[in-house]
Amino acid sequence: MILDADIKAQLAQYLQMLEGDLLLKVSAGTDKVSQDMLDLVDELATMSSRIKVEHTQLERTPSFSVNRIGEDTGVTFAGVPLGHEFTSLVLALLQVSGRAPKVEQNVIDQIKNLQGEYHFETYVSLTCHNCPDVVQALNIMAVLNPNVTHTMIDGAAFKDEVEGKGIMAVPTVHLNGEFFESGRMTLEEILVKMGSTSDPSEFANKDPYDVLVVGGGPAGASAAIYAARKGIRTGIVAERFGGQIMDTLGIENFISVKRTEGPKLAASLEEHVKDYDVDIMNLQRATRLEKNELVEIELENGAVLKSKTVIISTGARWRNVGVPGEVEFKNKGVAYCPHCDGPLFAGKRVAVIGGGNSGVEAAIDLAGIVKHVTVLEFGAELRADSVLQNRLYSLPNVTVLKNAQTTEITGTDKVNGLTYIDRETEEEKHVELEGVFVQIGLVPNTEWLDGVVERNRMGEILVDKRGATNIPGVFAAGDCTDAAFKQIIISMGSGATASLGAFDYMIRGE
Ligand SMILES: Cc1cc2nc3c(=O)[nH]c(=O)nc-3n(C[C@H](O)[C@H](O)[C@H](O)COP(=O)(O)OP(=O)(O)OC[C@H]3O[C@@H](n4cnc5c(N)ncnc54)[C@H](O)[C@@H]3O)c2cc1C
Repeated sequence: MILDADIKAQLAQYLQMLEGDLLLKVSAGTDKVSQDMLDLVDELATMSSRIKVEHTQLERTPSFSVNRIGEDTGVTFAGVPLGHEFTSLVLALLQVSGRAPKVEQNVIDQIKNLQGEYHFETYVSLTCHNCPDVVQALNIMAVLNPNVTHTMIDGAAFKDEVEGKGIMAVPTVHLNGEFFESGRMTLEEILVKMGSTSDPSEFANKDPYDVLVVGGGPAGASAAIYAARKGIRTGIVAERFGGQIMDTLGIENFISVKRTEGPKLAASLEEHVKDYDVDIMNLQRATRLEKNELVEIELENGAVLKSKTVIISTGARWRNVGVPGEVEFKNKGVAYCPHCDGPLFAGKRVAVIGGGNSGVEAAIDLAGIVKHVTVLEFGAELRADSVLQNRLYSLPNVTVLKNAQTTEITGTDKVNGLTYIDRETEEEKHVELEGVFVQIGLVPNTEWLDGVVERNRMGEILVDKRGATNIPGVFAAGDCTDAAFKQIIISMGSGATASLGAFDYMIRGE
């Protein structure tokens, strides 16, 4: 039995929600993955009389497509969509059967209006938490537009194809046979990338705001809710609503919620913000701030938004190691997300650059998957908590190099090694390996404020106890500031502080 009792019970409930009959077209061989896939589709068919199975030959074996009777949808799973992709399978069954996807009407219209042929392929790993969103978004597009097809491909089941195409990060999406994008993307982001953008003029000529929040992570969401609750005109501009938590797996220190996952928390944040009268401008990047009579924020699309006060909450991103090879081999062996990309290095040798908590946690996770992990720490000692260090040192397939300064990531078409200087002996050394995970912390997203808003040498915005910056009317919150600690609950608190600070400033001129 491929499905355990718990999953089967859940599945049974979902299958009762099927709205029409489905035909699963199955292309199977005699290998183990084919057998598992056949077990899965047969089990689905025994659980619902609405599901029929037909054996055929598809582009990939093992794979199966999910269709309406007499109408191919182009939704295909190559491999066995269990693990993190199980939800993608359930949603595909429901949506192909006729259940409407939970997507805003304007997005549905954009998808239906897409002209031309779009054949998407998404390479995933079943342990990648960023992959299902992309798979589900593209499946929705295939369900809604007959000119769009989408195949999810489990990299572990199609190793030769993945190696042949040099795919070393998931999710990686190909469109009509060419590389399209890698990494987590929402449906809206995919549409923007396809050129199906919302009209920039809709952002121009907006009435000035009382509070305009720039950044849609925990700090920005909190700031927007606090402002809107005062009944003042509030807007929020975000390059990607949710922020870093969209790339976070388990969260266990968001007080009052014992355990949650980042994307789930991001969805709750968005839902909470939408509960108020907040003008949400997602997928928009701020490029300039200028203080005139009002504070002006220019967007990448050229529109200028005006507001009495602005709260900057643009957060932070992974810090690059900045050595030759890092950019060239990004997604060709250089990776930043161990949870996502670790499985693609199964049985291979990898390095983790960085001996802090995130580096050591990454090394521990990777050691369970890969052949060997080399941890490179610049300083004389690892900086991770001792409990993590003890765990790391107990693993047989990990080497820790201290005083190691990475100088180059080497390779031809993909990574084949890493060069470092042993800072004690000043000797240059080279390690042969196939993957490098960079885990050296974060850098604030504040370059766009150069010469305008005061920052420290790390680029963090200097704020006072009310979240005020050096510019009257401009406040800041969260990971982009000089706050001593960078955490979700702290960002939310500082978002609230900045919002109340902005409100005070407006009514009292403080
Ligand atoms: C892998 C990982 C795991 C973590 N785990 C935990 C944990 O378990 N618990 C915990 O408390 N914290 C954790 N953190 C830290 C936590 O995620 C951050 O402290 C928190 O997200 C910071 O919130 P923020 O709103 O300040 O910034 P961010 O979350 O970085 O959000 C920034 C927002 O600004 C937007 N933005 C950036 N530049 C622009 C621009 N120019 N114009 C418009 N918008 C822009 C972004 O798109 C985003 O919407 C983790 C972080 C990472 C990376």
